[in-house]
Amino acid sequence: MGLWFTEIEDNEISYGYKTKDVLFSSRSEFQTIKIIDTLAYGKVMLLDDLVMLTESDEFVYHEVISHIPVCLHKSPEKVVVIGGGDGGTVRELLKHQCIKDITLCEIDKMVTDVSKEFFPSLGKALEDDRVTVKIGDGVAYMKDMGAGEVDLVIVDSTDPIGPGEGLFCKEFYRSVASALKDDGLMVCQSESPWHSTAMLHRIRDNVAAGFEHRKSYIAGIPTYPRGTWSWTLAAKNPIFPEEYNRSRFDQVKAGLKYLNDGMMVSVFSLPNFYQDQVSQ
Ligand code: SAM
Repeated sequence: MGLWFTEIEDNEISYGYKTKDVLFSSRSEFQTIKIIDTLAYGKVMLLDDLVMLTESDEFVYHEVISHIPVCLHKSPEKVVVIGGGDGGTVRELLKHQCIKDITLCEIDKMVTDVSKEFFPSLGKALEDDRVTVKIGDGVAYMKDMGAGEVDLVIVDSTDPIGPGEGLFCKEFYRSVASALKDDGLMVCQSESPWHSTAMLHRIRDNVAAGFEHRKSYIAGIPTYPRGTWSWTLAAKNPIFPEEYNRSRFDQVKAGLKYLNDGMMVSVFSLPNFYQDQVSQ
């Protein structure tokens, strides 16, 4: 039968991964952290036994959470990443020469250390000269940030439970809005379109507490619960996805495995059932 890892979602659904080996297993101050080597998806990072990323499909999430907001912003130079301690989002941001300064605020140093060891193609990005890693709570970090300091905030968080819960609250989104310049953009991972209506409405309404303009987009990620995930862009001004900076995208698109010119806009085309969940 061999070794199987089973991820349980909301005590209703389970996903099984045939596992060759458990490469790392420990508990930090905040969560359990495991690295398993699976037949289907290669190495997998688990936090509290939930799949965070896999060698095989992490590129989807990290490309769409980075290149879409970077190419929709007029001139993104100063970027803050909240969470994202695996380094995948930072790796993608570094592909843009216009970005001069990235600060990543990750609550759990063990995540950054483990990623550097087991996912060097992600974790090594955290050692780049343009990157500053702060170990701390992103809620407090954004609250303490001065007004109008940042061009882009990327909330690359876990789910709204445990240490991640505060990153889905009205106060947090208001502090992000305050820290952003007038033409700034925030993007956050906003859970699965198949999640409960109550959860999706809570995220939508809480983001709306900080931002007048919002646009959600989706992508398929085979190892995320229900196979589809969403991100929500938020700004103080209207967002026009078709107006992304094509020349900036041209400079990075050759190396991408998911995004292309067509998808830079089509990811914003939402199925009806999800549109209903995110529209006011
Ligand atoms: N980037 C991965 C992916 O492909 O989806 C998963 C997200 S990343 C591993 C989520 C990170 O958010 C974790 O490392 C977790 O420790 C961090 N985190 C959770 N709550 C946080 C908080 N309040 N402040 C800062 N980081 C937090």
